[in-house]
Amino acid sequence: MNGKGILTVVSGFSGSGKGTLMKELLARYPDAYALSVSATTRQPRPGEEDGREYFFVSKDEFEKMIAKGELIEYAKYVENYYGTPKKYVEEKLSEGKDVILEIEIQGALKVKEAFPDTLLLFVTPPSAAELEKRLVGRGTETMDVIRSRMNRACEEAEGMDRYDYLIVNDELDRCVEEMHDIIRGEHKRSFRN
Ligand code: 5GP
Repeated sequence: MNGKGILTVVSGFSGSGKGTLMKELLARYPDAYALSVSATTRQPRPGEEDGREYFFVSKDEFEKMIAKGELIEYAKYVENYYGTPKKYVEEKLSEGKDVILEIEIQGALKVKEAFPDTLLLFVTPPSAAELEKRLVGRGTETMDVIRSRMNRACEEAEGMDRYDYLIVNDELDRCVEEMHDIIRGEHKRSFRN
């Protein structure tokens, strides 16, 4: 990975609104960013398409990808596997694009270990109550899964201090610009030039 693109990892609690944030960032600055599409063994939610939100694969297929060394990192999150395919990320970075991975914390730390220049951003909703409201409001998960995801959020909160920036997702427009400014700022840091 020796192009000039910056690798940014965005993590955040399930329900933090980071997915919407990413979509808006990509819509506003389509030429600047490439969003990596992960592979997962979880079932698609209504409206999700294979190859767009995720590559939806079976556990067998996922394990083959691991065995062939096709993933930069992978992690288990609430009973399912999620992983970042290597090829796309390497290609885009070498083309000079800034690549964004939207992944959970274990994966983020693995990426940082492998590529120390990675920028780590953590997105949080303004409060825990707001987080629960968004998870329930989404209406796509059972209460059991919501509970597991809230528990996972508490665990992840402990790792937040490993991130470079914390973005409080109170207002979409402001957050998108904040994220864009942070990544632009990284390009100005002398060691990257
Ligand atoms: P969801 O099921 O809500 O789409 O995603 C659950 C969690 O998995 C989120 O925190 C999301 O950021 C994370 N995730 C998505 N793709 C990847 C990946 O490729 N690797 C890792 N480690 N986590 C991922």
